[in-house]
Amino acid sequence: MRTRDAVARDYYGILGVDREASDDEIKRAYRKLARRFHPDVNPDPEAQEKFKDINAAYEVLSDDRKRQIVDLGGDPLAPGGGAGGPGGPGAGPFAGFQDIMDAFFGGAAGGARGPRPRTRPGADAILRLELDLQETAFGVEAPINVDTAVLCTTCSGAGTAAGTHLATCETCGGRGEVQSVQRTFLGQVVSARPCTVCQGYGTTIPHPCPTCAGDGRVRTRRSLTVKIPAGVEDGMRIRLAQQGEVGPGGGTPGDLYVEIHERPHDVYSRKGDDLHCRVTVPMTAAALGTRLTIKTLDSEETVDVKAGTQPGSTLRLRARGVPHLRGTGRGDLYVHLDVRTPTKLDADQERMLRDFAKTRGEEVAELTKQGGFFSRMRDAFNGHA
Ligand SMILES: [Zn+2]
Ligand SMILES: [Zn+2]
Repeated sequence: MRTRDAVARDYYGILGVDREASDDEIKRAYRKLARRFHPDVNPDPEAQEKFKDINAAYEVLSDDRKRQIVDLGGDPLAPGGGAGGPGGPGAGPFAGFQDIMDAFFGGAAGGARGPRPRTRPGADAILRLELDLQETAFGVEAPINVDTAVLCTTCSGAGTAAGTHLATCETCGGRGEVQSVQRTFLGQVVSARPCTVCQGYGTTIPHPCPTCAGDGRVRTRRSLTVKIPAGVEDGMRIRLAQQGEVGPGGGTPGDLYVEIHERPHDVYSRKGDDLHCRVTVPMTAAALGTRLTIKTLDSEETVDVKAGTQPGSTLRLRARGVPHLRGTGRGDLYVHLDVRTPTKLDADQERMLRDFAKTRGEEVAELTKQGGFFSRMRDAFNGHA
């Protein structure tokens, strides 16, 4: 055993952490070093000394009171050191045995875990629901079919056949785990692993329920109605509390999430709560101005197209979009105007349009039926235009 002199040991240095290290950082540093220098892993005598130091450092730094003594320049593990510290048996590097076991087995060591419960909470479930824009915009009560595990009504979740009971597992005596004892440098180390006979439950089902085979739940299809509020959007999820999977052993059901999928609309495309649509107007109407009747999601609106409207112009109909999910009000409806150029002009129409162009001073070259535009271009380049 190393002799300790009056000089306080550098516990922070031993763990390689700084003086401001958090409890978590200290624990992490300790685990890392303990794994490396544990005598079961590293039989080297120097490693054993190192392991003792590591344990001592962890014992001190993981204890607020002892750490305070260190921070004040004392050594809580030194004989008589540290203002009436624990001292006596139980102090010293091995006092932290439980901590060592915690570090190695991740939590309560030994038999403290006990059998795991047969009844456990159920998982959440998710369901995809396709809706039309009309339904997402104004809300709907949608019927849905849900496939989940539900409570077994034959055994009410117990998993046992009528008139029978759970039996204590003979292999583990009901503890749910079997222990093995190892002799190590630290003394006896007791490790435990789940009992394979009862899968850690500590009990067995000698006569399982014939309906659920002991699971306490069965899969089935249910019909529900889900109330979709106005203004929901593609990808949103509605939570139905405790309508998910019933847990093993009839455990509390998880939640059911209904995920909204909005079908594309023939006329409107949606951006947030705004709607967009395209309306085609003839060139003459765009030039002269006109009045349009626009069918919105839930009404008909009359809007004026100003004279001289250009292709790609947009009309905005306020509050004719999708109602906001939270709060009041609605998005807007944007009407994008496409201006259509007339095609298939008859001779009269063509003449009128040429006359019109002439009065506007707009030069319009005349294309021949045979030559077409391309040959005229070529002629232009050859100087024959
Ligand atoms: Zn059952
Ligand atoms: Zn068992």
